[in-house]
Amino acid sequence: MNHLAINGGPKAIPEPLPSFRDHSGRSLGDEEIAELVETIRSGALSFLTGKKTAAFERGFADLLGVREAVAVANGTAALHAALIYLNPEPGDEVILSPVTDIGTAIPVMAQLAVPVFADVDPRTQNITAETIEACLSPRTRAIIVTHVFGAPADMDPILALAARRGLFVIEDCAQAHLATYKGRPCGTMGNLGCFSFQQSKHMTTGDGGMVVSNEDMRFGRALRLCGDKGWPRAKGGRDHLFLAPNYHMTELQAAVGLAQLRKLPGMVQARIDAADHVTSRLEGVDVEPVPILPDARGVFFYYSFRLAPSRLRAPVKDVMRALAAEGIDGFIGYPGPIPLYRYPVIRERLTFGSSGWPFTLPGVTRNWDHSDTLCPQAEKACAETICMWWSEALTEAHAERIASAIRKVVSAYAA
Ligand SMILES: *Cc1c(COP(=O)(O)O)cnc(C)c1O
Repeated sequence: MNHLAINGGPKAIPEPLPSFRDHSGRSLGDEEIAELVETIRSGALSFLTGKKTAAFERGFADLLGVREAVAVANGTAALHAALIYLNPEPGDEVILSPVTDIGTAIPVMAQLAVPVFADVDPRTQNITAETIEACLSPRTRAIIVTHVFGAPADMDPILALAARRGLFVIEDCAQAHLATYKGRPCGTMGNLGCFSFQQSKHMTTGDGGMVVSNEDMRFGRALRLCGDKGWPRAKGGRDHLFLAPNYHMTELQAAVGLAQLRKLPGMVQARIDAADHVTSRLEGVDVEPVPILPDARGVFFYYSFRLAPSRLRAPVKDVMRALAAEGIDGFIGYPGPIPLYRYPVIRERLTFGSSGWPFTLPGVTRNWDHSDTLCPQAEKACAETICMWWSEALTEAHAERIASAIRKVVSAYAA
């Protein structure tokens, strides 16, 4: 124990690792600056008169091989536009994962649909056709599938279930840029795919988002209008066809996005390479890296591994503290040490005044208990997983040090 950095020993990672937080771990440079300068000199900072947003949308759609891409302000906005497109009746149910960002659940509740949390597969921490099926009711309208950690969910059985039951499928790809499942890109398998370009994602515009689709008008609404005040601008003149917010991406975001998009394949591959280097060096260490399904390409938003508390002689939080002292940039569980439904917004229904909507809307008969008994596998996963921030700037040498930090700490705490 004495050689652990937390007890005054030498750090396994002496220099700070490249971080998504700043220049050290983000590929932002002359290409983004050139696009920004051109945009600012053009005097057009809005998609209404500029060209960058349209070019970014086209480039993103082409990279994924989809018909349409609509740029929006952020990933939560992308998912909200998708929910507005779906247009659920108040009190309809949308199934989602409790191992995801709150940005997956906010749009459901904002549209007055009830978020129904399906439990996760204990290994991949993604929802599955079986866990979704257990949550179905006559009021189920849609499934939001998060490909958590950038590891694709098992989509074929989910798509088959959705087809059987006539359910809409939204893929939350905020952590899954250029991930694939049986050769198909994440975001192109469901009805709509939603992406985020927030600071920590595989590519960034600071904040930013995209909705991709091969279909449109399924619900009598054009997707583009769902983040544009319900305004069919192509028609000319002013009209507002339904309730929708303004979720425009600015030309400044799109300018950065265009430059980032050109780097995306390389940045994603670098994340995968660094992760593979770590995994190959963890053989014989008592941890279980969160697995990628066979026939899938995981893109490592985080590098995540599972600990077995029964084989440790200290709580997971002590192990995390020791890892941090060695220089690891990580935390326990995603979205945190508890699943999403146990945060106050959902558990205490802090939504619309004191109404408790959507959970208490007329016609809602299921009474959800958002306690630690709702999704046992998600509870365990959140409590036992270490997530490490990842970056395209991590090299094989960094991977070597990361693996030795994990080996050092986990063996010191082995029961
Ligand atoms: C980041 C993220 C979101 C939300 O995206 P923002 O751009 O932060 O609004 C939604 N879902 C998942 C899985 C995410 O990781």
